[in-house]
Amino acid sequence: MTPEPGTSLESELHRLRDALQPGQGPALSRNMTDLLAQAIEQSPFGIVVMDVAGQVEYCNRAFTAMSGFALDDIVGVNPHPWNPAETTESIYGSLLSSQNLGEPWRGDLQNHRKDGSVYWERQMVSTLRDADGKHTHLIAVKEDISERKLKSENYEQTRRLQEQALVSSSNGIMITRSDDDDHSIVYVNPAFERITGYRSDEVIGLEGRFLVRDDLAQPDLENIRSALREGREGEATLRNYRKDGSLFWNELRIAPVRDLTGAATTHFVSVINDISERVRYQQALEYQANHDSLTGLANRNLLSDRIEQAIAWAKRQKGLIGVMLLDLDHFKLVNDASGHRAGDALLKEVAHRLKSCVRETDTVARLGGDEFVIILTDLPQADDVDQIAEKILSTLSRPIEVAGRDIFVTASIGVSLYPRDGDHGEILLRYADMAMYRVKEHGRNSVRQFMPEMGSNAISRLDMEAALRRALERGEFLLHYQPKIDLPSQRIVGAEALIRWQHPQIGLVHPIEFIHLAEETGLILPMGEWVLKEVCQQQVRWHEQGLPPMKIAINMSARQFRQEDLADRIAATFASTGADPTQFILELTESMVMHDVDSTLVALRSLKKLGVSLSLDDFGTGYSSLSYLRRFPIDELKIDRSFINDIHTNHDDAAIAGAIVAMARSLSLSVVAEGVEKKEQAELLASLGCNQVQGYYYARPMAESAFTTQLHEQQNGNA
Ligand code: C2E
Ligand code: CA
Ligand code: CA
Repeated sequence: MTPEPGTSLESELHRLRDALQPGQGPALSRNMTDLLAQAIEQSPFGIVVMDVAGQVEYCNRAFTAMSGFALDDIVGVNPHPWNPAETTESIYGSLLSSQNLGEPWRGDLQNHRKDGSVYWERQMVSTLRDADGKHTHLIAVKEDISERKLKSENYEQTRRLQEQALVSSSNGIMITRSDDDDHSIVYVNPAFERITGYRSDEVIGLEGRFLVRDDLAQPDLENIRSALREGREGEATLRNYRKDGSLFWNELRIAPVRDLTGAATTHFVSVINDISERVRYQQALEYQANHDSLTGLANRNLLSDRIEQAIAWAKRQKGLIGVMLLDLDHFKLVNDASGHRAGDALLKEVAHRLKSCVRETDTVARLGGDEFVIILTDLPQADDVDQIAEKILSTLSRPIEVAGRDIFVTASIGVSLYPRDGDHGEILLRYADMAMYRVKEHGRNSVRQFMPEMGSNAISRLDMEAALRRALERGEFLLHYQPKIDLPSQRIVGAEALIRWQHPQIGLVHPIEFIHLAEETGLILPMGEWVLKEVCQQQVRWHEQGLPPMKIAINMSARQFRQEDLADRIAATFASTGADPTQFILELTESMVMHDVDSTLVALRSLKKLGVSLSLDDFGTGYSSLSYLRRFPIDELKIDRSFINDIHTNHDDAAIAGAIVAMARSLSLSVVAEGVEKKEQAELLASLGCNQVQGYYYARPMAESAFTTQLHEQQNGNA
């Protein structure tokens, strides 16, 4: 029986005392006495009446229900024996002394039930007096509060645990109020103090957003503001400031704390994660990925981005772009005569002078060695390039002082133009390179613009598109295979299939000449299907020849990857050729997968379901965020060639490659290095823990027949 809500022990007690002390209330009729007896017997509270010595004279039904003792069991007994040892003498002491004062005693006691079990009682004991004021009885009104006690003990324990978690968390934690205009801090943990440098007592009462200071132009701030407004979870990466003014990157998560009814948000918990280290690392990685460590100029990666950007801009503005490839004359002599240090100093000075010859908006890049590229955007007319080139040649002709000696350098410059010579960065670079070689052939220290006759491979864009279509129809494409080598065993464990075009007049054309156009015109789709089918059939042939299974990597283009039914199409090709999907690796580039992360995830999962492996090609040249990498179901990273180039001579490049390998391994990804041209590079990569390599040092891409021969030789133990 539970007490009615609203009745309290206290009011019950008063009611009873008045009823049972005839002298103090109005005289009661016989009916009324009966009624009171009933009321006591049926009261939802346990009621026990004792004589002054504490011997029980009466107990009601509710008491029997809570304790198991019926009146017969306890009448004439002193309640002391019911009380377990835990109820201390002092409680009884206070109980009895309060009786002497005539004050009711209130308190919680543990008692035994009849069956020996223990329960918690909340009771109020008071004295009954007769008409003369003589103390005649004790009356105890009791309530079983075991359940409530248990709940609050659990609560207490949970609260202690939470508190401990807050205090010992290595993340900073801050709890703020959530009133319309009061987001003041009510708690911060020790990690918060450590991260921010503020002591708890300095920040309690401040607005939660004070760590942002006046650095309010942060787009992520709106995530937090709207989460606070709407009383929901939110996250953001913010620039925050420590007490000493230094900046740290805060990966902040906030979550609402609701009141007991769950309706209103009373507070917010903010979890503060100082990710400055990670951000610094990523920024360094990005900087290194885009800059030449010797001169600080743009490197090949950044250069190709800049060229494509410049072309996109010039397309809209109908503008003109110049691409200048500059190669120092006889630089090797300087290096040999004066040493590498002198060579490096010279390159730095050249970089400096080149920058001084062009506008801020132009790009100066170093490709490696003594090769530089300059992109001139927004040229008024084609002849202006020659003038700038002349200016560069004359600036370079001033002596350069290195280690106390004057060195004289000259340069050969080749120039190509957008839109005259082409509309892709790689093509423009290639043509500038061809023009530069003509300068070298004709005595150096001069400039030359590209002319179509310079490259036998140069096919005009219009001719190219028609020729590509014909090539598909006539089957002029073929595949070369470049072996992938397992570093520990030095054995061929796979290959990358690379497309070639056997042009009837020009000869073998490399993909750099036509992949872009194929992508633009959509011809890449039938071309890609042809590549997959060809590799499937080849796999089946190798299998029939008794060669062990071998994973072959295939390059996917962006357009292919965006096809809705890509997985179905690939599955159909596997089915029709009978090839084993697990022996295929699909290579995707960072820019393809970072484009739209959610739809990429769906696409990647549907490809994985086919049984193929997925590889991230040209890794390091894009902006892969580590958190996405973790989410994507990829199996392999291919470190881009540009990181491998100088790995054996440049400590920074080696450190980056090492970091990529370590990161990949922490994500359980296999790592392949491409563009390995030297033994030292391979050895260094092996020491870094890289799994596989691919590059001219081991083998160039080769015709299928040559590759098949190598496979047979390896199988027979000749290789
Ligand atoms: P990629 O996927 O990065 O392929 C590697 C490129 O590096 C190949 O150029 C290969 O010949 C070259 N390479 C390999 N080892 C070395 C080395 O040690 N040093 C140097 N300097 N280069 C090395 P390739 O065959 O000219 O292909 C160029 C690009 O064309 C490929 O770059 C890929 O993006 C694309 N491509 C090739 N075949 C296909 C294809 O079937 N489909 C699609 N969509 N793209 C393809
Ligand atoms: Ca590739
Ligand atoms: Ca690659």
